[in-house]
Amino acid sequence: EEIIDLERTHVVASKIPKITERCDYISFIDNQRTATFVNCALGLGYPIGRLFDLSFPPSFDKYFSLFVESNSPLINIPKMRYDDFKKMSKAKEYIESGLVRIYRDFESKKPRPRSKEEYVRIIIPPDELPRLRLTSKQSIVVNYLLLKGTAKVDELLNDLEDENVERSVLVQLKNKGIVKINDELIADEESGQLVRKLTEEQSKIVKSILEEIDGISVRSESLKHMVFGPTGSGKTEVYLDVIRHALNFGSVIYLVPEISLTEQTIARLRKHFPDVPIGVYHSYQTDAKRVEIWAKAVKGELGILVGPRSAFFVPMRNLKLVIVDEEHDEGYYNNSEPFYDVRKLLQYFPIPVIFGSATPHLETYKLAKDGIYQFHVLTKRFNVELPEVEIIDMRKEKKSTPSISKTLREEIESVLNDGMSALIFTRRKGFSRVQCAVCGYIAKCDNCDVSMTYHSDAGKLKCHLCGLEKPVPSVCPVCGSQIFTDKGTGTEKVERELRELFPGKNIGRIDAEIIDTPEKLKKVLEDLREGKLEIVTGTKMITKGLDIYRIGLVGIIDVDALIFYPDINAPLRTFQLLVQVIGRAGRKQKGKAVIQTYDPSNPVIIYASAQDVTGYYERELALRKELSYPPFADVVHVMYSNQSEEIARETIDAVYKDISNAEGLYIEILGPSEHPIFKVANKYRYQFFVKTVHSSRIVRLLNEIKTKYPGDWIVRLNPPEI
Ligand code: ADP
Ligand code: ZN
Ligand code: ZN
Repeated sequence: EEIIDLERTHVVASKIPKITERCDYISFIDNQRTATFVNCALGLGYPIGRLFDLSFPPSFDKYFSLFVESNSPLINIPKMRYDDFKKMSKAKEYIESGLVRIYRDFESKKPRPRSKEEYVRIIIPPDELPRLRLTSKQSIVVNYLLLKGTAKVDELLNDLEDENVERSVLVQLKNKGIVKINDELIADEESGQLVRKLTEEQSKIVKSILEEIDGISVRSESLKHMVFGPTGSGKTEVYLDVIRHALNFGSVIYLVPEISLTEQTIARLRKHFPDVPIGVYHSYQTDAKRVEIWAKAVKGELGILVGPRSAFFVPMRNLKLVIVDEEHDEGYYNNSEPFYDVRKLLQYFPIPVIFGSATPHLETYKLAKDGIYQFHVLTKRFNVELPEVEIIDMRKEKKSTPSISKTLREEIESVLNDGMSALIFTRRKGFSRVQCAVCGYIAKCDNCDVSMTYHSDAGKLKCHLCGLEKPVPSVCPVCGSQIFTDKGTGTEKVERELRELFPGKNIGRIDAEIIDTPEKLKKVLEDLREGKLEIVTGTKMITKGLDIYRIGLVGIIDVDALIFYPDINAPLRTFQLLVQVIGRAGRKQKGKAVIQTYDPSNPVIIYASAQDVTGYYERELALRKELSYPPFADVVHVMYSNQSEEIARETIDAVYKDISNAEGLYIEILGPSEHPIFKVANKYRYQFFVKTVHSSRIVRLLNEIKTKYPGDWIVRLNPPEI
């Protein structure tokens, strides 16, 4: 595989041979060059274009223009547009003689010149200067300033033009705390922004991460860091200090799990780095906007790029650091084709990466514990205690409404009286399931093996799998009864019950049904932040990094079914979810959380209420080691579906046989069996699981076998749901 212009991608040439064994390459082509992209994640070998779509808007071509530049020292033609060049008298001659080259490049607008008068001066004592490690350009500037005292920025740049000193050198010195640039000096003092001192725990972490980053050589080992600490422990503050340092040497990508979290992050970054160009990249932007950001990133015009997983595929020039905030989030994992796992991709990148989470991915946690990553732990919240958690045993508890216990109601009342807000977590969207009160018939989807959910907004039954909508039956199709009850709990039902219990209060809802764009989420969160909403109920959408001081109480309703979902990851996933939801409470003063459960002695509930992440993880790791489950081995999930139940079964049996012949490649095969939700969208689903430490060979084998049996296949590696 030929690799060109690697400086422009994340990948460094010298590292590639080492990772070939685990990886396949994906090439993508832009009009000038071929860059190579390494798909370490799964080694599935995606065709060109698949990942390309992720990294580049489809209609990018129209954003390129032809440019001309001299190709020879004999003539002096600066870069100019081909259209302008053509008008010159000697244009044709130059082109034919090969004195100029014509190439395509991004059309970028010139940055606006800075109009402000800026001054720069040294702000550290002169006797500290000899101890500083400076690049040669930085020393030139420091020497210049020692002679001049305070200098006008424009004059300095002019005087030092022959030394190729650019403004960025001043910014580097500023970020190192050696010089101040004056209009910013005033800004600092006015807003008092930068007055903050890291705690001892925090500065220790920053220091040990910084040892890994220096501009010239990046050490290849232990470049990965896990920052593990409860929500509000100051992980972000740690990132900010490391970013400040990395910016001296190059650029930074800052990944967040959700588009809606980009703004919160950018606001914080802008405050800390007012001079650094910060870009955002995500799939809700227009093509033109994405191309603009992409081009800037490639050309090195951005200091920091913020975005969800798609931002990761932008080839930032001179990338020196990646932050993966909330690294456990499934947003970093693409569960449908093309499969990838940003978290895993980054494991093989030869630059420092900081993974941060209060509830890490179990594998990341293990890598950190085993010393493969550097493990940094923040033990407590900054200035605030973690919330107090109360477990409500619903078998004994009185209910105020079908889903809200007496205790939870009292807690909500009390937090509202304190002028704070309450967040109520509910497992599913919609209202409830509809059940015949006489014979117990539950309205099921015609196409799928699941019960339908009543949505009171639409007055209809909806299938959350295939989207089928049906009117609510007026008579039971089984016994003819006309009496129906509701069973189970959804966000709409909880919202209605809250309105009953707290008339006149402002109550909102966050679920995929009503929040279908990032803007809508932003609006609800703003209302919550400003106190316009007093109670909000929602699905797990409410857990994602939400940082709102006003939330004094978190209520958790109906979580038992999540723990018992037939899936080996279900308890861990529920645990993480609980810890995250609980963590939304009391970010300014101590908050409270209430968990309603019918199984109060379940370890998930116990550990989550103690917010003992380490304890639960150790228990889970021991269990999984026993069973050879991830992260101790891989699990390849193979599923085949067909409208004919018979064909589906025969096919899975045949493939199972082929795979089981490949002895030595697997530890154990579980199945084949029906999928727990057997029928979806009128197709029957069969599956089996391969536990293996040779997953890429198993996947390759499956890809061969698949060609013999065309149809609907799903092959997944360690999917979040197993
Ligand atoms: P996390 O990212 O772990 O959730 P944050 O970095 O957001 O935590 O910190 C939580 C709150 O505490 C924020 O308001 C942050 O500004 C504040 N904070 C954390 N560390 C410090 C510090 N050293 N000095 C001042 N404020 C801090
Ligand atoms: Zn009935
Ligand atoms: Zn359905």
